[in-house]
Amino acid sequence: MTVERTSIDTLIVGAGQAGIAMSEHLSKLGVPHLVLERDRIAERWRTGRWDSLVANGPAWHDRFPNLEFDDVDQDGFASKDQVADYFVAYARKFDAPIRTGVEVKKVVRNAGRQGFTIDTSEGTIEANRVVVATGPFQRPVIPPIAPKGGNITQIHSADYHNPAQLPEGGVLVVGAGSSGVQIADELQRAGKQVYLSVGAHDRPPRAYRGRDFCWWLGVLGEWDAEVMRPGREHVTIAVSGARGGQTVDFRRLAHQGITLVGLTKSFDDGVVTFEADLAENIARGDENYLTLLNAADAYVARNGLDLPDDPEARIIPADPECMTHPLSELDLAKAGVTSIIWATGYAVDFNWLDVDTFDEKGKPRHQRGVSKEPGIYFLGLPWLSRRGSAFIWGVWHDARHIADHIVTQRKYLEYRDASQRRAEDRCTESAPCVHNVCA
Ligand SMILES: Cc1cc2nc3c(=O)[nH]c(=O)nc-3n(C[C@H](O)[C@H](O)[C@H](O)COP(=O)(O)OP(=O)(O)OC[C@H]3O[C@@H](n4cnc5c(N)ncnc54)[C@H](O)[C@@H]3O)c2cc1C
Repeated sequence: MTVERTSIDTLIVGAGQAGIAMSEHLSKLGVPHLVLERDRIAERWRTGRWDSLVANGPAWHDRFPNLEFDDVDQDGFASKDQVADYFVAYARKFDAPIRTGVEVKKVVRNAGRQGFTIDTSEGTIEANRVVVATGPFQRPVIPPIAPKGGNITQIHSADYHNPAQLPEGGVLVVGAGSSGVQIADELQRAGKQVYLSVGAHDRPPRAYRGRDFCWWLGVLGEWDAEVMRPGREHVTIAVSGARGGQTVDFRRLAHQGITLVGLTKSFDDGVVTFEADLAENIARGDENYLTLLNAADAYVARNGLDLPDDPEARIIPADPECMTHPLSELDLAKAGVTSIIWATGYAVDFNWLDVDTFDEKGKPRHQRGVSKEPGIYFLGLPWLSRRGSAFIWGVWHDARHIADHIVTQRKYLEYRDASQRRAEDRCTESAPCVHNVCA
């Protein structure tokens, strides 16, 4: 597909949920724009996730305000393909100007004049503004401790699809956020011996007193939290909508057959060593879990809500053997471990963005997505404006703020002083005029 237009007011890069939300707001406000997507709409939901993945939040919550899922129960969890289909339908609803199969290769600020020149796989475009909506999770990160060579299969969670893809034998899953716990659970249920390396994590209850945790985080103002608590910048959240949605409970996973281990420290000659922090990491997760229950109880009491008591939620199972006598090391071959799955997160990649808005660590400088480089905007990044920013519902609200900013900037640039207005009036009286140049 070719890029038909060679200039546009605003170019949006990426047609995931962020690019679509941005396009909706700009369409409503009458801002001419184009969305370029190198693959298909919502490609990461379509092919960048494992086969059985369902949304972490229920369908009533993990969606945009203006469209419900028509094929998923409100309290159910949409499959990854249903989420992708939802965004395709959403884009169609307002006829979003999306060109798929076009990659943006470079964005450069124009010298001595406004706007940017954008090289794409289908030609060059000029734009006054560029919204970077290329995702919060772009480049899978495998830490440098990963063993080199050897005959162990190693993949990142981004490349995991299903248990059949792995060789016979046990698996070490490194990382116990939402991806790691769900993949470990799936592999253990498929009959594999699984070791799960657990670091620091938040662990909200799936539901409490009849309400999903998404509801609790909403009414308690947690999704709107604007700053990360110091020291908690990288804390991952362990939740799952799998099999109807259950609380992630590490002790239950251990009683089910998964061997929990501490943070993965190093690999040496086929032997992996673990930090002695398993009990502490689980205890902190419990603390986070109980803090939410307490805050929910206080909210119920303060507002006189009629929500059922839920004493069972406070029952914490006994510590399993792997917690009381944690492994400090594991000889992978002797344990029959033939693969490692790195559920260790992602980084962003802005190599193609040749503009002056990055700090010394390469992180974009911006305020609520409005970058230091006038005309460049970021959308969909974690904590762009608040905790919910990288999630489906949160990105829609951030997009609205950026669209408002774009409209305001356009108004400034449209401003003409009195002499310019008089000159324009004279022109229109006599002949058509383009920017004070009479035809
Ligand atoms: C395993 C997993 C599960 C998740 N589950 C949930 C959930 O249940 N609920 C929730 O709210 N959030 C969830 N998220 C978080 C978030 O919603 C997703 O990561 C979502 O895909 C982010 O949407 P996005 O539009 O910001 O970015 P993406 O979906 O990553 O879209 C960015 C798009 O930009 C395109 N692109 C990139 N570079 C270029 C370029 N140079 N030129 C053209 N196109 C380009 C990509 O092809 C891609 O389609 C999950 C994340 C992961 C990793």
